[in-house]
Amino acid sequence: MPIHEKSLIRPENLSDPRENLVIDGVDVSGDWSTFIRSRVVKDYNENLQDEIAALPGGEYIHRCWQCGSCTNSCTVNAENPEFNPRYWIYLIRMGMEAELLRDKDIIWQCVSCNKCTSVCPRDVVPEGIMKATAHWLEMKGYTEPSKAMVFDEIFTEQIIERGRIEDGEVLQEFLKKTNQPLMQDWLIQMVKQMVKGFPLITLAKMGLATIFKPKTSDWARASAAIKEHIAEEKAEQHRALGLDPAE
Ligand code: SF4
Ligand code: SF4
Repeated sequence: MPIHEKSLIRPENLSDPRENLVIDGVDVSGDWSTFIRSRVVKDYNENLQDEIAALPGGEYIHRCWQCGSCTNSCTVNAENPEFNPRYWIYLIRMGMEAELLRDKDIIWQCVSCNKCTSVCPRDVVPEGIMKATAHWLEMKGYTEPSKAMVFDEIFTEQIIERGRIEDGEVLQEFLKKTNQPLMQDWLIQMVKQMVKGFPLITLAKMGLATIFKPKTSDWARASAAIKEHIAEEKAEQHRALGLDPAE
């Protein structure tokens, strides 16, 4: 079988490429001696599209008609052609989970620029699909939580508990949870600028807030309602993904 686009075949599916084959002094290296291993996909996940659609951002995946505008406009694809939202949407819609997992280490690289979302003719919100897919990979235990996810969790936890955030505390927690040193050059520079630019009283208030962790007044009821809502949503998402709703 001729290979029209060798670049589209994954290296592990090519056998015996003999790139340096010389016979009787003649270099006969080349694609003529390359074979593609036949591959049969048997491990479909028929629920894959529904699982992604159950997560925030994935709701409109069923609308995709594979025009490719998302990939054409994608900021990350311009740097790395392996980053291909159109293709991943196709795999999800086909239920080809094992194929999708081969790219699990680059899907999280989406920078949320939303160029794909603005060009999509079907309002699929591909940026949301990328987020939902990264979330799905984490929930299923295929990847570690990304730094962005760790940051989101710390930020959200503070909002839910206190109805406000303390920037310094969020940053401190984030660096601690992602095993990064607290003394970062850029952070030292930022603090120096703040000391120069902010009135002392503001800085003192910020320092005290980090110690005493003030809450928005009458926040307890709102906090309880948000927690209940999140717990319901989480249980629903776990059910959709076939995970334990109580986890
Ligand atoms: S631009 Fe929209 S419709 Fe076109 S492939 Fe991407 S998600 Fe699908
Ligand atoms: S939001 Fe993500 S997928 Fe969409 S264009 Fe930007 S980097 Fe690409």
